[in-house]
Amino acid sequence: MTSATPASKAPLALYAIGLGSNRRHVRHGNPRHILLAALDALESDDIEPVDVSPIIASDPIGPSRRRYANAVALVASPLSPPEMLDRLQGIEVEFGRRTGQRWSARTLDLDILLWSGGAWSRADLTIPHPAIAERAFVLGPLRTVAPGWRHPLTARTVRQLAARLIRPKPVDQSAGAH
Ligand code: ATP
Ligand code: MG
Ligand code: MG
Repeated sequence: MTSATPASKAPLALYAIGLGSNRRHVRHGNPRHILLAALDALESDDIEPVDVSPIIASDPIGPSRRRYANAVALVASPLSPPEMLDRLQGIEVEFGRRTGQRWSARTLDLDILLWSGGAWSRADLTIPHPAIAERAFVLGPLRTVAPGWRHPLTARTVRQLAARLIRPKPVDQSAGAH
């Protein structure tokens, strides 16, 4: 049996979305609960949740001192990358995120980490997210949901990127021996 696909339906793409929060929200509460609410908000007619990592706690980067809750969600969607960014920014605003300083304390940060279409580079949107390889708080959760996903530019899997970041630097045995 064949089932017709409506012409208006674009093929589904898979996205890995990074979620972060380091502020309380008046209604949702602490960052962990904000991420749970954000995962609910993400689900819609054209964004289907596929998998979600555990929520981890991580130290802040940049000027803010508050600890973050971080997670990664895999979602399937017909939306194009700019449409997805638009949707994510709408949800950030719904959660009371104010625009301003990058890396400042925020209620909710939603970043596009990876896209099954590969790479995308425009002024306001770069996929893969350029900082993936240096961020343990991204690679840790990402590895739990997509360990074999290859970074389209380096061809390294998420598992390999995580191992490179976590592996301690080898000690130079000769250093200080003289
Ligand atoms: P970082 O990108 O280092 O994690 P940030 O998430 O705090 O920093 P934001 O203030 O959330 O930065 O976003 C700044 C701009 O980054 C956004 O307006 C958006 O246009 C742009 N941007 C570029 N690539 C991406 C991406 N892959 N996902 C989300 N935003 C992106
Ligand atoms: Mg970010
Ligand atoms: Mg962001």
